[in-house]
Amino acid sequence: VIELKNGRKSFGMVDVLKDINLCIDTGQVVSVIGPSGSGKSTLIRSLNGLEPLDHGEVLLQGARFLQGRRDTHRSQERTSRKRILDIGMVFQSFNLFPHKSVLGNVMLAPRYHGLGSDAEIRQLALAMLRKVGMAAHANKYPHQLSGGQQQRVAIARALAMRPSIILFDEPTSALDPETVGEVLRVIRQLAAEGTTMVIVTHEMQFALDVSSRILFMENGRVEFDGPPDALRQTSTRDRRVRDFMFGVD
Ligand code: ATP
Ligand code: MG
Repeated sequence: VIELKNGRKSFGMVDVLKDINLCIDTGQVVSVIGPSGSGKSTLIRSLNGLEPLDHGEVLLQGARFLQGRRDTHRSQERTSRKRILDIGMVFQSFNLFPHKSVLGNVMLAPRYHGLGSDAEIRQLALAMLRKVGMAAHANKYPHQLSGGQQQRVAIARALAMRPSIILFDEPTSALDPETVGEVLRVIRQLAAEGTTMVIVTHEMQFALDVSSRILFMENGRVEFDGPPDALRQTSTRDRRVRDFMFGVD
């Protein structure tokens, strides 16, 4: 679905992404783990252009979608921008519109982009709310919901655009412990349905259970990229990521 080639990015003197190559296939669930400041958020934000790369390129469905700004001609960049709708994103801090109802939040983007008649979009939005277990709350407003419920609405909102991949940046980090599970359950269900996802998370057990691949980032590099099973066996090479996941003691 999406491919990052030679992705490089610096903030001032700090190289946050150091020549990263990454290819994510349809149906893969990729968890990105690693210490704070290792570049996890910058990596996934670079995939949809929220954080422009300095060098390198992003291909979406095999076609060039984004280019490093230091190797770009502006006209090229503009022509590919529409495809950004093909990438969904769920943030740590839900970012729902406070003055719109749950249903209104989910209908907003498909409406804005004219993805169907109003009736069709309403049906689609309700179907997505049902999928995340929030249909009964369709007419409520964000402030009437718990954090976990708001995050499930944010997931429904991303799904309503029918993206071919969804990026999650620490979707449960801002939640009370008692609502983390309901959000992880929804993501687990999406994984079981074959949704292509990249998930930055600190939930190690969840990452081990749900992922087809785990990426371990450290200092702007991907230091491990492989199936969770590879981490269950001991090997010297994977020592660092095993220590990070399972604790050192
Ligand atoms: P965390 O687990 O804390 O979310 P992370 O792995 O997501 O960390 P990033 O947010 O990608 O890390 O940040 C990587 C590095 O880039 C950090 O050193 C951070 O301070 C720096 N950085 C990130 N965004 C910016 C910015 N907009 N301006 C300057 N420096 C930034
Ligand atoms: Mg981050």
